[in-house]
Amino acid sequence: MLEVIIIGGGVSGLYAAYRLQAQGLKVLVLEANNRLGGRLWTIHTPEGHPIDLGGQWVGPQHTRTLTWIEKEKIPLHPTYTKGDNLLIKGNKRYRYSGTIPRLAWAALVDLGWGLARLKRLARQVRLEAPWEIPNPHWDALTLRAWMQANLRTAEARETFAVGLATVLGCEPEEVSLWHTLVYIRSAGGLEPLIETEGGAQALKFSEGAGKLIESLAQKTSWKTETQVHTLRWRGGHVEVETNRGTFTARAALLALPPAAMGSLRFEPPLPPPYQQLSQRMPMGSVTKVVAIYDRPFWREEGLSGHTLSLTGALRITFDTSPPDGAYGQITGFGVGRLARALLHASPEHRQAHYAEALRQLFGRPARWVYQKTWAEEPLVGGCYAGYFGPGGWSLFGQALRQPLPPLYWCGTERAATWMGYIEGALAAAERAVAQLTAS
Ligand SMILES: Cc1cc2nc3c(=O)[nH]c(=O)nc-3n(C[C@H](O)[C@H](O)[C@H](O)COP(=O)(O)OP(=O)(O)OC[C@H]3O[C@@H](n4cnc5c(N)ncnc54)[C@H](O)[C@@H]3O)c2cc1C
Repeated sequence: MLEVIIIGGGVSGLYAAYRLQAQGLKVLVLEANNRLGGRLWTIHTPEGHPIDLGGQWVGPQHTRTLTWIEKEKIPLHPTYTKGDNLLIKGNKRYRYSGTIPRLAWAALVDLGWGLARLKRLARQVRLEAPWEIPNPHWDALTLRAWMQANLRTAEARETFAVGLATVLGCEPEEVSLWHTLVYIRSAGGLEPLIETEGGAQALKFSEGAGKLIESLAQKTSWKTETQVHTLRWRGGHVEVETNRGTFTARAALLALPPAAMGSLRFEPPLPPPYQQLSQRMPMGSVTKVVAIYDRPFWREEGLSGHTLSLTGALRITFDTSPPDGAYGQITGFGVGRLARALLHASPEHRQAHYAEALRQLFGRPARWVYQKTWAEEPLVGGCYAGYFGPGGWSLFGQALRQPLPPLYWCGTERAATWMGYIEGALAAAERAVAQLTAS
């Protein structure tokens, strides 16, 4: 009999498998899709240039990820940040440098004050028990409600809303203030989340994040195209039913976003908070767009390729060209409301829409434009990650983290540090492995 069955072959499930196997345990990863990697997915252009449809960056604070990358000699390069950034407002574009865009003086003071207040509040989060909330009001409010009450100028509110939506992958009216604070705290502050140099966008996988998945896949046992639909967890073992037969183990580690657990049947049923967790932690709505150009021509105009748009289809873009600039690559994100407005359109229509948005931003058509709308991936359901609306953390936070032996959980949503990121996926795997081997 297997010791542990891991459900979900994303980076979290594979890393957990690696760590359990390193302790001599017999482990098998079951992945429903025909590829491993989940929210990490590298494809290639006809010329062979790597395109990351999912995660692609690592920051200097991502110590677990960097340790693995170094050990496996996976190439990374710094994201290009030289030159001016652009703020797009309607038909107008304004050059600026640094993280905060050029706003009217009153709006700038207002925004600075708002961000400082948010950072101060985030220090109140206890990362190991975020369901213990010093002021229950903070979990009852949406981020939008807090913003309306705490920012005075329309311009600061607009910039704040776009900036935070881009980080969280949802609109401020969807997410609780407390979830925002937990997210900020789990990254060690707001700057590591929003900054490129020195922050979460600092280093790019030169050959695609798929290399990280390949390195883990070589060291673990897994089966793809094996979709789990039922878990029987009576007594000291688990029976896992899939489209490819039944597997039995002493424990199961579910390495899925909580929202994806809604399609699983548990016998006996999970206790109510665990059951409802899958309904209460929806996935964000982000469409990732990657465009390829003959060369990074914007650099010749003194531009960094980093744009922040208060009105356009792509809220934010970055220069993700290779280090030698052999060709140009821009990565952009359609987030929240704007991404969701296009969910009804066909992938071809979306692609044309984003190609035009990029042409307007950079003045030239791209050679290739790829768009990945994660809401159309049935096994993940959205991105970057799941988030809680009001009441989520106080009511369901414990169910997110605490195991129900022989059932254990990992995946980036369950992480205390860098929740939502590759680093969080590894951190959550580490915790689950420790819980599992201690029991
Ligand atoms: C567009 C985008 C950009 C991002 N950018 C970054 C970035 O630059 N840096 C960063 O650090 N993070 C980034 N992220 C987040 C990062 O990709 C994720 O945090 C991480 O990959 C999550 O890994 P996971 O293993 O927790 O979950 P997942 O990758 O979602 O893995 C879960 C797996 O479970 C499988 N599964 C689901 N249901 C079943 C079932 N019933 N049976 C069997 N298998 C099942 C799924 O197919 C999937 O493979 C980004 C994500 C996206 C989508």
